[in-house]
Amino acid sequence: LKPRIAQKDVTLHILKTFGIHMSKKLGQNFLIDGSVVAGIVSAAKVSPGDAVLEIGPGIGTLTQGLAEAGADVTAVELDRRLLTVLAKTLAGYENVKILQGDILKIDISREIIGGNYKNYKVVANLPYYITTPIIMKLLEDRLPIELLVTMVQKEVAERMVAQPGGKDYGALSVAVQYYTVPEIMVVVPPASFIPPPAVESAVIRCTVRQEPPVQLFDEKYFFRVVKAAFAQRRKTLSNALKAAGLTKTLVDDILNSTGIDGKRRGEQLSQAEFAALANAWFNVTR
Ligand code: SAM
Repeated sequence: LKPRIAQKDVTLHILKTFGIHMSKKLGQNFLIDGSVVAGIVSAAKVSPGDAVLEIGPGIGTLTQGLAEAGADVTAVELDRRLLTVLAKTLAGYENVKILQGDILKIDISREIIGGNYKNYKVVANLPYYITTPIIMKLLEDRLPIELLVTMVQKEVAERMVAQPGGKDYGALSVAVQYYTVPEIMVVVPPASFIPPPAVESAVIRCTVRQEPPVQLFDEKYFFRVVKAAFAQRRKTLSNALKAAGLTKTLVDDILNSTGIDGKRRGEQLSQAEFAALANAWFNVTR
């Protein structure tokens, strides 16, 4: 049995052996808390044979937990220096494949999923400098993903689950909740990582919806309305839509046909109201 990587002394030993100085720029904060690794694996309900995509394996801390739970793991790591480390720390786990690359650039459906039409689970302790672009790419590309369980900044997790009316509610909340049902599983303190990040973290589980929660004529209009409404949060809905380039007549038509008060602000609108606005816009421009 291999020593558990998710321990402070083991992690420091590995870093020292390979002469690795962790890169702040690449968001390298490695987990040293075995109970957090176990919590992530259990939040993802990993069972033997599950296909898992891991983003940023680092020195293999979470990868080891996933491999021991029996998952078939494909892990994408950007930092070339870590490939030699991973070859050593994960030697012997035949259910792990490591790819070097940038998760934002890689063609996931071709290079990872390929002809394997299984549903994937994405499990990751994400690099925080690109949390939102990664999550949005995974969701927008409509990949065969059933579940995402990721460590993110606590503040981002709160925005993902936020409901209308509060300061955390924004375009990210609407988009994540359109594609998935997000839940915060656990809050993780900085001391669970080395080096400790400046902020608290949280594990979020996003279960991908099989059916959209609202009926849309065209998704593009939905995301355009959402983007416009939150682009200038202080503006009324009516002014925000005009600022996004819609004519006054068009805005009036959309508001009249939906019965939504243009003096309200984006942060007060529910997903169903955004959908109604999007469908009304689609109808008048058709
Ligand atoms: N999984 C490890 C753990 O839990 O200890 C490391 C997590 S660390 C927060 C994030 C990892 O993502 C780092 O190993 C970093 O090099 C890697 N990374 C950063 N940017 C990346 C990118 N664009 N594509 C793939 N991996 C990236």
